[in-house]
Amino acid sequence: AYYFIDGQFTKQDEIKISIDDRGYYFGDGVYEVIKVYGGELFTAEEHISRLFTSAAKINLAMPYSEEQLIGVARELIERNNLLDGHVYMQVTRGAAARQHHFPVPAVPAVVTAYTMEGSRPKENMKNGVAVKSVEDIRWLRCDIKSLNLLGSVLAKEEAKAAGCEEAILHRDGIVTEGSSTNMFGVKDGVVRTHPVSNLILEGITRQVVLQLCDELNIPVEEKAFTLAEAFQMDEVFYTSTTAEVMPVITIDGQTIGDGQRGEVTEKLQKAFATKIPSLCKQ
Ligand code: PLP
Repeated sequence: AYYFIDGQFTKQDEIKISIDDRGYYFGDGVYEVIKVYGGELFTAEEHISRLFTSAAKINLAMPYSEEQLIGVARELIERNNLLDGHVYMQVTRGAAARQHHFPVPAVPAVVTAYTMEGSRPKENMKNGVAVKSVEDIRWLRCDIKSLNLLGSVLAKEEAKAAGCEEAILHRDGIVTEGSSTNMFGVKDGVVRTHPVSNLILEGITRQVVLQLCDELNIPVEEKAFTLAEAFQMDEVFYTSTTAEVMPVITIDGQTIGDGQRGEVTEKLQKAFATKIPSLCKQ
């Protein structure tokens, strides 16, 4: 398979990454995961635009334009004959002798990207998954899609060790999001989710789902809910590029609603699937 690094399309065994790359030392960079359906990028402009926003928030100068990066993603898909899966793309502040402050003089950012095959998690989307509540110990700039993912790594590992698919993160008793997903609850027909703030990543799938709610006349409150409230929801689900709309069946072993994929969740899943072709077009 081809990888993109330093402006070139390269085979894996020819890749050279500097030991001094700040991504390696500090997680000093940002990234994106863009879904590919039938060889087409899904919501590509939204993802690339978020990559630029994340980069700007850490004062990282992007060495390419948005159009160029979409071109890179497309060429990778073509070269690797990818049908279903995703494109991973990351940008680091470059390679320089290890010092915490930005390199002086500045060095070029390092952009890398590759494709990964993967199919939609249809089984879990139908049957739902178990999640574990984990305290949200991440930093206060979760709005940046940063390579610094230790808080998310530890949360996901804790969930996995408990036999769960995802962690439901809570800060001071308030549900923020999942370790790599946005969390939603449904109570009396109203969809609830944490508002956009520094405490969550504004998911592209979250945006799509909120749009779908609007189109389906499902009322939405972008208002945080507590972990205690989460247990009392009729439905809980989470969203992400790879998970799409994922029903949550249990939290900490406690059944949510009637223990099956909820009505609103299923409606949103169906609407999401219908929307895929139009959101693949640029
Ligand atoms: N929240 C966090 C912390 C994430 O890492 C992600 C995706 O990786 C999401 C939410 C979901 O974002 P998206 O729907 O854009 O994939």
